[in-house]
Amino acid sequence: MNQTNLIKPVLDHEYPLITHGKGIYLYDEQGKQYIDGSSGAVTASIGHGVQEIIDAMAEQSKKVSFVYRSQFSTEAAEKLAKKISEISPGDLNWSFFVNSGSEATETAMKVAIQYWQEKGMKTKNKIISRWMSYHGITMGALSMSGHITRRQLFEPMLEKYPSVSAPYYYRDAAHKTIEECDDFYAQELEKAILRAGKDNVAAFIAEPMIGAAGGALIPSDQYFQKMKAVCDEYDVLFIADEVMTGMGRTGKMFGMEHFNVIPDIMATGKGMSAGYTPMAATIVSEKVMEPILNGSKIIMSGHTFSANPQSAATSLAVLNYIEKNNLVENSARMGAYLKEKINELARTSEIIGDVRGKGLFVGIEFVKDKLTKKSFARELDVVNKIVQLNFDEGLLVYPANAGAEGLTGDAVILSPPLTITKEEVDELVRRFAMALGKVERELL
Ligand code: PLP
Repeated sequence: MNQTNLIKPVLDHEYPLITHGKGIYLYDEQGKQYIDGSSGAVTASIGHGVQEIIDAMAEQSKKVSFVYRSQFSTEAAEKLAKKISEISPGDLNWSFFVNSGSEATETAMKVAIQYWQEKGMKTKNKIISRWMSYHGITMGALSMSGHITRRQLFEPMLEKYPSVSAPYYYRDAAHKTIEECDDFYAQELEKAILRAGKDNVAAFIAEPMIGAAGGALIPSDQYFQKMKAVCDEYDVLFIADEVMTGMGRTGKMFGMEHFNVIPDIMATGKGMSAGYTPMAATIVSEKVMEPILNGSKIIMSGHTFSANPQSAATSLAVLNYIEKNNLVENSARMGAYLKEKINELARTSEIIGDVRGKGLFVGIEFVKDKLTKKSFARELDVVNKIVQLNFDEGLLVYPANAGAEGLTGDAVILSPPLTITKEEVDELVRRFAMALGKVERELL
């Protein structure tokens, strides 16, 4: 695909023009059908064209589409905040609404810094993050991200926040067991805090499962408990970036629920409104809000469109739809089935090195040699090849870069809408297998 991400005054036809979507399918103007096997950018989690959501959007727009958050509250925003507090773990009861995942993580970072300021600890303003990570594209969010290609151009302006490894057991050759790996990662975090000075570190941020920068990397059951213990020891807040993993994607409402660790702050987006309208949130615990409420009272951030009633009503309808249709459970069940099917393909494929994931968040890493785990040469641009050949077969897959820290891994993520049925998974896998055959013929 030879494309630009700009839209010219006249529509740019280098991308196929989509006319409509229904369920897990999208249709272009040539009548070609695509399975949205990636939910766009892991976003369209209830599928396309859901009438209930369209009705809720119409209802809200008849009432009021916009009010400014510093002048009015709305029933839509208040109901959404209540719903989020009900579905969030622990005492994560406060929602600060924004418009994108980048704004949600950047707000999370600011809230963490504000928390320490309100407590009189003025120097606690650094964030520790991991090399394999993606937390967003705005400068603060990008500062926390280890995504090398997205950082490169702006490096001189970015903070050097990423400083610890991510749990990437498939390629962690330095340690014998997962337990040893996890101990090493926790020690690394401790060293990073001590290096920066514990009085200078506000928070540690991590995706529960790494998406764009890793291809659905899943930590062990103990990893986050060990990392959180280090945070607690040194008075460092823990921010979970649930932008990709939240709202049922991994077979639980939030990714962190797999690990029995409750974050101090969470960032969400994407599946929160399933792409029907922009909506994201920074969700803050009572613990973090307490000094803020006793101090300056407001979170020192905000956007014109924060808590936009149209988006709030849409997101509320999406979350109700997820609940009513048991989509979190469906994600767990269909995700297990999808992973099993991809594992079957992996057994005979010469280039699938690793299959990983939870729920409908399945990562597939491709290698030149399954035994040595050697990756393909960069120039082959394997991920884009795989994405394109799947696209030709009518299947959208999400490209991921598992190439941080000098590694050159190629991965894609399968993350279809949480509504997917068993028959639809079979059809998705059939198309994926067709594309895989072509990839293998091209590469081997
Ligand atoms: N955090 C994570 C984990 C993400 O995957 C993304 C986007 O892919 C973001 C943050 C940024 O979200 P957005 O693209 O909505 O700004």
